[in-house]
Amino acid sequence: MKNIYLDHAATTPLSEKAFEAMKPYFSDMFGNANSQHAYGREGAKGVSEARAKIANAIGAKNGEIYFTASGTEADNWAIKGAALEYREKGKHIITSVIEHPAVYTTCKQLEKYGYEVTYLPVDGEGFVSKDDLEAAIREDTILVSIMFANNEIGTIQPIKELCEVAHRHGVLFHTDAVQATGAIRYDVKDLGVDMLSMSAHKFYGPKGVGVLYLRNGLKMEKLITGGEQERAHRGGTTNTPGVVGMAVALEDALSTLEEDAKYVASLRDRFVQKVLAQIDDIYYNGAKDVSKRLPNNANFSFRYIEGESILFSLDLAGICASSGSACSSASLEPSRTLLSIGVPIGTAHGSIRFSFGKHNTVEEVDYTVDELVKTVRRLREMSPLYKK
Ligand SMILES: *Cc1c(COP(=O)(O)O)cnc(C)c1O
Repeated sequence: MKNIYLDHAATTPLSEKAFEAMKPYFSDMFGNANSQHAYGREGAKGVSEARAKIANAIGAKNGEIYFTASGTEADNWAIKGAALEYREKGKHIITSVIEHPAVYTTCKQLEKYGYEVTYLPVDGEGFVSKDDLEAAIREDTILVSIMFANNEIGTIQPIKELCEVAHRHGVLFHTDAVQATGAIRYDVKDLGVDMLSMSAHKFYGPKGVGVLYLRNGLKMEKLITGGEQERAHRGGTTNTPGVVGMAVALEDALSTLEEDAKYVASLRDRFVQKVLAQIDDIYYNGAKDVSKRLPNNANFSFRYIEGESILFSLDLAGICASSGSACSSASLEPSRTLLSIGVPIGTAHGSIRFSFGKHNTVEEVDYTVDELVKTVRRLREMSPLYKK
């Protein structure tokens, strides 16, 4: 049997359409998009069409889309670029405790260089409060960066409202929309954000390509200095196949977004319902209101046992899930996000994220529930902590 992939929050398989669109740019159309000859023009045309498609998909203007080499780079650019550009105005940044490491560790790094960072708390379901944000804003605050949707527990923040609070005080707003893009329909002008990050490989596009949306007229320092690429805002030869694939994948994802979200949520809901009915002593982490939760996300903490042991056993059964974030699974540190929503430290170690995708089936969900029930029962029987 083929392995069952339930880790779409870590990455997604490349869509067939995106793959086909990319192929010519790996072979005949290999030109450097910045070269002033026929090969260059061919590459430049591919890049400019990709830029227009992405702009159109999120309600931006073409000139507001900047290609990067990852979602991580887009986040770094937004934060460090603003920190450098506005250092005369102030050195205070506001973010949340549950940000992805691309934002969190970037803020930590800036603290070493004299910046002050406020990490807003979240409630038991992972929501940042508008009032907490308002209270944290100071004279010297230059940037607020709050993620659109969380990669571990799927909670969707009220970005438009949070952005309004920042703007009322004249502070710039960035959102890491890496998990949201392709899963939630949004328009950057309606959200009102100044900067937004996305990454192709989270919506069935290729790895190693991202976008930073920078609102027209916004002054920003560069992160990657070099040649005149990206209208002299980001050096480095453009990844032509990558950006072409990203644009096709995003267009494709948005063309069936509602149907796909509904299908994926139906698999997730079936899974959650069965798991809660068959396994005791667990927490279902994240937003309870499904309209405020990514359609693909289910995150559980299983008391008395280790998440790593569950994952190992599921892996043997051909099921690929994750202990939260791919980025921290190599360490034995409990998840910062789970601790922040109040999961006790011991229990946080027993947590697993299942993230579904549009190619998963009901049969895969049912098989996974059966294997999970068996695994949890077996591990608990061996656990000295479990006395029942
Ligand atoms: C995956 C992810 C990133 C990083 O994107 P890469 O393209 O893999 O660097 C950033 N933020 C969130 C919320 C993510 O899920």
